[in-house]
Amino acid sequence: MKKLGIIALTMALLNPALPLGLVGLLANPAANCAASDLTITVTLDHLQATTADGVAVSLDKTQLARAATIITIGAHTAGVTRDAIIIALMAALTESRLRNLANTTAYPETANYTHDGDGSDHDSLGLFQMRHQTGWGTIAQLMDPTYQTRAFYGGKTGPNHGTPRGLLDILDWPTLTLGQVAQAVEISAYPNRYELWQPVAQTILDALTRPGGPRLDQTPPDVSQVVFPLPSGTWVMASPYGWRIHPVTGQNTFHAGTDYAAPDGTPIMAVADGIVTYAGPLGGYGHAIDIAHTIDGQLVTSRYGHMWEGHLYVAEGEQVLAGQHIGDVGSDGISTGPHLHLEIHLTLGTTNPAIWLNQHQAAQLDQPVLSAAGCYT
Ligand SMILES: [Zn+2]
Repeated sequence: MKKLGIIALTMALLNPALPLGLVGLLANPAANCAASDLTITVTLDHLQATTADGVAVSLDKTQLARAATIITIGAHTAGVTRDAIIIALMAALTESRLRNLANTTAYPETANYTHDGDGSDHDSLGLFQMRHQTGWGTIAQLMDPTYQTRAFYGGKTGPNHGTPRGLLDILDWPTLTLGQVAQAVEISAYPNRYELWQPVAQTILDALTRPGGPRLDQTPPDVSQVVFPLPSGTWVMASPYGWRIHPVTGQNTFHAGTDYAAPDGTPIMAVADGIVTYAGPLGGYGHAIDIAHTIDGQLVTSRYGHMWEGHLYVAEGEQVLAGQHIGDVGSDGISTGPHLHLEIHLTLGTTNPAIWLNQHQAAQLDQPVLSAAGCYT
């Protein structure tokens, strides 16, 4: 109950008020999920993201490989949740910009280790800028990003056994904000920097673990036709995709999809031919469906959120057709009214679903069609 209360409070603090009273999804809707199902499904050469104070960030292949290490080790560490991985990414982004930094001023021998650059912050080393002098590890250990990541998470399987404390050694960490947890591990002179990187960490995690990767053992057919996911006349746009200023905290928050308000039970249709990669409960999304498509040669995943249990009509691995009735509008998960939360994931992350639908001339094909077989197609 306590955890639920905290999640609700976090939602209230982070989520901007929506015009129709609908609460859209946070950037981390699956925050309460265990991380063990997180797998790196995508390797990227390049990723664009934006900090909470609006600074554009460009990440390269090496930085993304360091992020993948943090995600993979987290997913294999007992007690590490999705939130804990985001915290670790925030910490490494803040401390080193996800680079394994030597420090040839303090320790000339660090030039001999594999490194991504040379830092100069006192005697700090590596991915999380840990210090040998405060007991985090030997020079050799701290020049190893895997070792630093394990030390950051800490806990029973960590190398330091609570001294210094890793994330899992801070027993009340789930009651703190993500930035506060990062600071509790790092004990930095600048405690408020970490939360600026939260949306970047989220973007990285989403991009590298996006649905449609490992579960997909066949390539979706290459198609061009895209249809609107709700029948015409049933919906109004309730909340757009993108950055918004929270009216209470004044902070930027990111809405990764478009919300279409529609009556409970309104049919939801697949936006294109594809293969269902997930259908079931999904944290704050309530019950959700992911469909992988190949559209004009490009891999695209569409996600549909907030359906009620029992109102999903497709299963993982199933082939679906554009316009096929896949589920019904509901209000399950973190939602205060019936709506479809639609996300469109491209290779580099999410895109604006409303614009994407328009670009694919989907507005004119918004009616489900009853096929000769009696199915919506
Ligand atoms: Zn939403």
